[in-house]
Amino acid sequence: MTHKFIPVAAPVLAGNERKYVDDCIDSTWISSNGKYVNLFERAFAEYCGVAHAITCCNGTAALHLALVAAGVGKGDEVIVPTLTYVATANAVRYCGAKPVFVDVCRDNWTMDPSKIEASFTERTTAIIPVSLYGHPCDMDPINAIARAAGIKVIEDAAEAHGAEYKGRKVGSLADMTCFSFFGNKIMTTGEGGMVTTDDDALAAKLRLYRGQGVDPNRRYWHPVIGFNYRMTNICAAIGLAQLERIDELIRKRRMVRNWYLRNLCDRLETQGSLNSGFGTRSVPWMFNVLTGAAPEANLIARLAERNIETRPIFFPVHTLPPYTNWSNETLWKLPDTFPVAEYISSRGISLPTWAGLTEEDVNYVCDNLKELVHA
Ligand SMILES: *Cc1c(COP(=O)(O)O)cnc(C)c1O
Repeated sequence: MTHKFIPVAAPVLAGNERKYVDDCIDSTWISSNGKYVNLFERAFAEYCGVAHAITCCNGTAALHLALVAAGVGKGDEVIVPTLTYVATANAVRYCGAKPVFVDVCRDNWTMDPSKIEASFTERTTAIIPVSLYGHPCDMDPINAIARAAGIKVIEDAAEAHGAEYKGRKVGSLADMTCFSFFGNKIMTTGEGGMVTTDDDALAAKLRLYRGQGVDPNRRYWHPVIGFNYRMTNICAAIGLAQLERIDELIRKRRMVRNWYLRNLCDRLETQGSLNSGFGTRSVPWMFNVLTGAAPEANLIARLAERNIETRPIFFPVHTLPPYTNWSNETLWKLPDTFPVAEYISSRGISLPTWAGLTEEDVNYVCDNLKELVHA
């Protein structure tokens, strides 16, 4: 008997999603005007404890908007962790700027604050810490370094809606924080993104560049070259319904993590298991384990044969083709080595993690994983 297929991620759309989307269609407000955009922005700002939340069409656009609002441009350097999804670094390239990679902490897999200062040059204009797989970064030292240097911190929290650092929600910890609402994230709008900030001037810039750079007080007058990065009312309708239930979605994900930990913690190392430290509360976006050797491709295929979908940890961005060939460019300093990111990437896999998994599903995954890892 083959077990039913267990996807690595799936959205749970069990609240008002359909009702609000029907409302968009019934009212014909299906484009980027409509009440749900404003309602979603206000509710998300309140959830994060910030003054402003600006919707946009996806998380990558959110990063690009934040960098543009921070004034990052050609020739600038932006410090990013190498262990992240490629969009973090790509957004820096969209601005004509250069990502300068730093390694991550061995325990929680997020940007190592002790590595930042050595990466500074006179061209450094921003730092993008990434709350990887739902684990918040150690923001106090990162913010302190940035403040001393007079530069901006843009947190990439695409994977960490609802995570907390020293009792404060992610979204309120940096000059700007970027979220994604892709279908596999903690909460989804299908495709979508958000930037949060407490800074009125940055919020105005984010809105300006999101909406084709049109002057808010003069129609068809465009003082800057902006983008069409708007979110639709339909996406915002889904987002509002998801946000209404986010506590429940996170509670279920934490249950899933607890089931995994009970099964695996004495056998395999997990993200944050060495020392979560500094009073954080992560949200399990992906529950990850480090396997002993480096057997991912094989292990992932063998689990797939048993109807269990898993995924490899991201490749460190400095190893991807558009980033390795930079040594030819005059601006490019040959990359340092990033032993921690490479170690984690070569040994880690993400196990199915989403709010609709049952304890039986998780036990099935763990039984098979333990059998294969020790075979
Ligand atoms: C998903 C993700 C993004 C990009 O978000 P999209 O909505 O897919 O564009 C950026 N950074 C990280 C860390 C992500 O996980």
